[in-house]
Amino acid sequence: DVRVRFAPSPTGTLHVGGARTALFNWLYAAKEGGKMILRVEDTDQARSTKESELEVMSDLAWLGIEWQEGPDVGGPYGPYRQSERQEIYQKYAQQLVKEGMAYPDFCTEEELSQMKRDAEANHEPPVYTGKWSKASQEEVDAMLSQGAKPAYRFRVPKDKTITVPDAIRGDVSWNTDTLGDFIILRSDGSPVYNFCVAVDDALMKISHVIRAEEHLPNTLRQILIFEALGFTPPVFGHLSLILAPDRSKMSKRHGATSVTEFRGLGYLPQAINNYLSLLGWNEGTEQEVYSLDELKEKFSLDRITKSGAIFDRTKLSWMNGQHLKLLPHAEVDNLITQHLVERNLLSKEGSPFAQTAAEMLRESVEVLPDAEPGLKHMLEYPLRQTASTEDAREVLDDNFAEVANAVLQAWESGELQAAMQEKGPAGFKSWLNKMGKGMGRKGKRCWMPARVALTGSMHGCELPQLVSLLLAEDGDIADKSLIV
Ligand code: GLU
Repeated sequence: DVRVRFAPSPTGTLHVGGARTALFNWLYAAKEGGKMILRVEDTDQARSTKESELEVMSDLAWLGIEWQEGPDVGGPYGPYRQSERQEIYQKYAQQLVKEGMAYPDFCTEEELSQMKRDAEANHEPPVYTGKWSKASQEEVDAMLSQGAKPAYRFRVPKDKTITVPDAIRGDVSWNTDTLGDFIILRSDGSPVYNFCVAVDDALMKISHVIRAEEHLPNTLRQILIFEALGFTPPVFGHLSLILAPDRSKMSKRHGATSVTEFRGLGYLPQAINNYLSLLGWNEGTEQEVYSLDELKEKFSLDRITKSGAIFDRTKLSWMNGQHLKLLPHAEVDNLITQHLVERNLLSKEGSPFAQTAAEMLRESVEVLPDAEPGLKHMLEYPLRQTASTEDAREVLDDNFAEVANAVLQAWESGELQAAMQEKGPAGFKSWLNKMGKGMGRKGKRCWMPARVALTGSMHGCELPQLVSLLLAEDGDIADKSLIV
């Protein structure tokens, strides 16, 4: 059975790299009909916070990533918070000690630093060579009876090559002599991170560990622990780093990096998932826009690439625009007006004004905040008192002013507003066409002069909608500075 896990350390926000790891695990579980486990790695008590744990969980939920076992939902292999599993780690550490695969180390700080300095001087790896690996039971008992508090070290097999058949990177091998006996329990009794992870992955019956490349060096220690405890190691797959456009490690100075931030910036969860899915995975086709259901169906470990993936915000925004286009118009319009109300540009949702504005913005919005300059731009067109611009003269015939003036007159007298009262933009359309007909004009020869007269520009949004906006109640526009 496929059982994967996402194991965040709740020491901050959910970074896009973490979100991608969670997504890949979840997609793989979904594809294989397996289970996704959420395990909170909060052994670092000083840095872990409850707020962070809650934020990570709510970000995952917002992305639509679900888990079948975890600290909130429970499950057969709990508890799912490392801080609540301390007795389990002690038990397995004791088992290793009993079987001689781990031993107490009473070295002082000074002895350990000396060992390090010696190794450095000899250009050797800084591995533990202390006497306690060979100490007799009597020596150990003597120390313990004096009340000395040892750390416990794992006895690493000598000169053994360990090969991990990494599902993404191929075989990765290490010689155990580069490692030396490592600590599994500190002298204060607290278990170290790699020990906890291996014990948890074993007991939680994790079949595949898909995680970031930075954990690759941990894998050697973890495999040794698995084997010593008599468990079969899971399949490992290490994902390459997500890089900034300048190929450096992605960090704060490149702008938003956390799911919470992207959520605040108005990105859709389905667009973020889709974008993240392509950071290191591809199906081998030209397709780029995927729904979550499609991803669940098509995702596979063997199409994950080894090279680092570049996080390109422009591409993410484009992707967001694509996902907006996949939504029903009514839903997009709601998102746009909601956003404009939240940003205090519109006073309310659902008004004809809000509806018209949303319709006009719909096509050009990639991410919801685009609606803000979009709306401002639309409202920047005041009714013009003059029906000419240099631009217009070149394109329009000499007599275009007759149309323009007629439009302005109709506006001033209220005739135009009356025509639009009931039918809105459609009312404007039929009014203008009818007026043009009276002058023997139609199409561009009628519409261009009208546009120039009303907006002072040759370009812009759909004119009937734009005029509806100009007719709008002031009350619709929350930010009065937008009204010219
Ligand atoms: N807790 C680790 C992290 O947040 C993940 C460890 C793992 O996946 O093995 O980076």
